[in-house]
Amino acid sequence: MSYSQLNDIMLKLTDKTTVKVLNVLLDRKEIIDEEMVNILNEEIEQSHEASGGDETQEIPRIALKEVRKSLYKLNERSLARYRRVRDRETGYFVYYWSPIYERILDLIISRRKQSIKKLRQRLDYEQRNLLYVCDEGHTPVPFSDAFELGFICTTCSKELSQKDNTKTIQFLEKKIEELDSELKNGLEELDDIAELFEKQSLKK
Ligand SMILES: [Zn+2]
Repeated sequence: MSYSQLNDIMLKLTDKTTVKVLNVLLDRKEIIDEEMVNILNEEIEQSHEASGGDETQEIPRIALKEVRKSLYKLNERSLARYRRVRDRETGYFVYYWSPIYERILDLIISRRKQSIKKLRQRLDYEQRNLLYVCDEGHTPVPFSDAFELGFICTTCSKELSQKDNTKTIQFLEKKIEELDSELKNGLEELDDIAELFEKQSLKK
């Protein structure tokens, strides 16, 4: 399963390794960190082979330390939790990691709402402010600025004229509608994660 929306969000908030770690968590439901390292390194080897990688060349492997760092990052954001079990033979603690589905769903929904809000603000701005721009399309400015500049572009000194922003407005309206209906009708991956969440709740 691929979580493109979630991965985009997580990449902005964290880093590539953490995104991979979260995907494995969603896939495996519960896993110990050492197993996580093995899975990620197998993936790296496979993609190295698939890309026709040089066999003599050393493949950069992920270290346990890195994976742990990512797991802590997820834990800080309440997206993953662990349970600690003492290994009877070695006496060491073993950490079993699992994703917190509820919080992951919340994250996707709240981020999506934020994007819609930003687009609405932009639309509002476009609707209220007519912008002035030169033929070359250099930085558009509102009327007050254009007036002060004597309707001359600061970059190319060509005349500034009213910019037709109908297309921008139409684009923004369409985009908002799209995101809104996606949110209402449910993103496919929201359903997938919700399903995993329900399965987990039933087990309890
Ligand atoms: Zn210009």
